[in-house]
Amino acid sequence: MSYLVDENGYYGEFGGAYVPEILHGCVENLQQNYLKIIESESFRQEYMALLRDYVGRPSPLYYASRLSDKYGAKIYLKREDLNHTGAHKINNTVGQILLAKRMGKTRIIAETGAGQHGVATATVCALMNMKCEIFMGATDVERQHTNVERMKMLGATVHPVRTGNMTLSDACSAAIRDWCCHPSDTFYIVGSTMGPHPYPDLVARMQSVISEEIKEQLKEKIGRDYPDYLVACIGGGSNAAGTIYHYVDDERVRIVLAEAGGHGYETDYTAATFHRGTTGILHGAKMLVMQDGDGQIQEAFTISAGLDYPGVGPMHCNMYKKGRTQVLSINDDEAIRAGYELTRMEGIIPAIESAHAVAALSKMKFNPDDVVVLTVSGRGDKDIETYLNNKEKAGEYGQF
Ligand SMILES: *Cc1c(COP(=O)(O)O)cnc(C)c1O
Repeated sequence: MSYLVDENGYYGEFGGAYVPEILHGCVENLQQNYLKIIESESFRQEYMALLRDYVGRPSPLYYASRLSDKYGAKIYLKREDLNHTGAHKINNTVGQILLAKRMGKTRIIAETGAGQHGVATATVCALMNMKCEIFMGATDVERQHTNVERMKMLGATVHPVRTGNMTLSDACSAAIRDWCCHPSDTFYIVGSTMGPHPYPDLVARMQSVISEEIKEQLKEKIGRDYPDYLVACIGGGSNAAGTIYHYVDDERVRIVLAEAGGHGYETDYTAATFHRGTTGILHGAKMLVMQDGDGQIQEAFTISAGLDYPGVGPMHCNMYKKGRTQVLSINDDEAIRAGYELTRMEGIIPAIESAHAVAALSKMKFNPDDVVVLTVSGRGDKDIETYLNNKEKAGEYGQF
């Protein structure tokens, strides 16, 4: 049994491609061509060269000795925060823009929440001289203002979306609506392992460079190419998918994902989709979704804009349902505290999303010989205000 996508675009009962009639041709064209293109020699060469010279890969695998002492295990951090533009998102946008070019598309659209995917998309559009339009909830435009200015400076047009809660989920819907109006010339660069097939598989493959590198780096550092635990935060699921990709069928490796609990998964202020979601269809795929009895999507709530989504990618839904993945719900205050802890113990200010993964460590039990690889999905520059406004949640670390 494999946990990767089947030939029909499903992961067990999850996935598929539920799109409006007008996009059928477009999505089918992508389904039929993406593997041919991304597995071709010319694509591989151009993609790998950009990952190396433009993104700055391989990202280091860093042995965090103070963190290791504290938690009683051998903890390694996969440093996606050191990538160009500050997160793992760029791995995917570099790949998808090369695919868009090879498919003859001239206009790029994307959705964004915190603005990290918007910035990563605007960046590669500048690089490739492509027209770029970003859809972003009006609430997020306000709370992530610096990223909006970065996108504009890079040459993108940013469309504030004023429907619904005016956050990520509404931005996704707006991007899909725009795509329906321009199916022939437009390529939609999806930012996470979500959307209609083949996007979840496409994005997972683009991020799989993370686990490819972890294998090589572990082999070099500890003489074996697998850890006992992989830990990552999860919103739509792309950094998690990249972290686990080459290990999904390796049962020696335990997978622990950290989702955003907000005020607590048992409250109404949460984004803990695994704990609270039920099967539904959102943005083109069948997945776990937070919804009411009538199938109305519920608003997600978390301090972390990058995890503020009421669904989760189909690959992860299937692995969770089959018991392959353990999911921990991390509350806002726990994430803040863990962000301060990593800052003070290792000198690394993580993105508030990544801080959720760090917080998972305190809920896990280790043997001293356990090897843990934890992905730091992004850097915390964008979150300094959030950290400072929540100092009181950081305990002794907040006294400054
Ligand atoms: C976007 C983002 C996430 C969440 O998205 P995934 O697709 O689940 O990885 C996590 N961390 C950072 C830094 C992000 O920018």
